[in-house]
Amino acid sequence: MNCTCSKSNIESYEKFELKNFNALKISSTADVAYFVKDEAQFCSLFERYKNINVIGCGSNVLLSSLGVREPVVLTRKMSEISFRKNVVEVEAGAAVQKLSVEAFKNSLSGFEFLIGLPATLGGAVAMNAGAHNQCISDFFVSARVFDTLENKILCLDKEQMQFSYRNSLIKKNPNRYVVLSAKFELIKAEHSAIENKMKENSEFRKRVQPSLALPNLGSVFKNPTLQDGQVQSAGMLIDKCGLKGYKIGGAGVWENHGNFVINYNNCTSSDYTNVVYKMYDSVKERFGIQLECEIVRMGEFSESEEEKWKIMSN
Ligand SMILES: Cc1cc2nc3c(=O)[nH]c(=O)nc-3n(C[C@H](O)[C@H](O)[C@H](O)COP(=O)(O)OP(=O)(O)OC[C@H]3O[C@@H](n4cnc5c(N)ncnc54)[C@H](O)[C@@H]3O)c2cc1C
Repeated sequence: MNCTCSKSNIESYEKFELKNFNALKISSTADVAYFVKDEAQFCSLFERYKNINVIGCGSNVLLSSLGVREPVVLTRKMSEISFRKNVVEVEAGAAVQKLSVEAFKNSLSGFEFLIGLPATLGGAVAMNAGAHNQCISDFFVSARVFDTLENKILCLDKEQMQFSYRNSLIKKNPNRYVVLSAKFELIKAEHSAIENKMKENSEFRKRVQPSLALPNLGSVFKNPTLQDGQVQSAGMLIDKCGLKGYKIGGAGVWENHGNFVINYNNCTSSDYTNVVYKMYDSVKERFGIQLECEIVRMGEFSESEEEKWKIMSN
């Protein structure tokens, strides 16, 4: 791994091991990886490359064990958070956990749900991350977004971002738009009320989700909405198929909740894919429900794996 600082001084590395930059702790080598620290550095890379893989916390990304040939950009060093009254502007690489705490310090309510969520602002906006019946789009005002097709920066409002359940304009157009920063309008509230909500959310998360000590990518499947409008728990459907504890290679379904797949022992992207496909296939077979996967992929996958992911992404 050699550090090759370019003309514009962007920190970059060749043959970069991404194991510590994805929550599943998959070993995957990027041919080249960049750590950007501001908007100018980020945008300059789009003059050099057509396709770039952006990684925030890597909490929702399955990296290929075969590696990533296209350049990877890591945003976590681009992390300014600035408040003006109840409006906050946040750079793409800021940890949303920190954002939640900073909002609390400013007696601003709206980001209590972000406590304990392993995400950067860019990743959370792209995925419209949510928890405890709230999501990132709730207090969203606008985002500065780089459009790699038009080669320019856009300022997009909430409507233009097309947010829906774990989805956004960014996610719908892989490789086209990159979030540089976003602005939110929060609500002034009692310090103690915000603190209580954060505690409650944090305790709930500890009860129902695996900690990062058990490497995972969060919920694998979205909760499906049935024809009668009822929302089903994907985890419950998977549990009913008897898959808790089911393992292939180093990957397995978490014993406590069916919608999480853990890297128990140096799992490969292929192990993870095969476990996830088994979950999908079992639920389809038993209940006739086609689950939709939340996980995003990066790098090279075999033809049969590609086929499985295509089916699971509907
Ligand atoms: C233990 C655990 C618990 C979780 N709990 C939740 C939860 O409660 N709710 C929830 O919604 N999710 C949850 N997740 C999933 C994950 O945290 C979210 O999807 C989060 O939004 C991902 O953010 P990230 O910065 O890690 O993005 P990454 O995983 O790095 O990237 C995800 C996608 O966003 C893209 N992306 C990242 N940054 C940018 C950018 N600046 N511009 C454009 N695209 C970008 C990536 O290219 C990729 O396609 C959990 C994950 C784990 C491991």
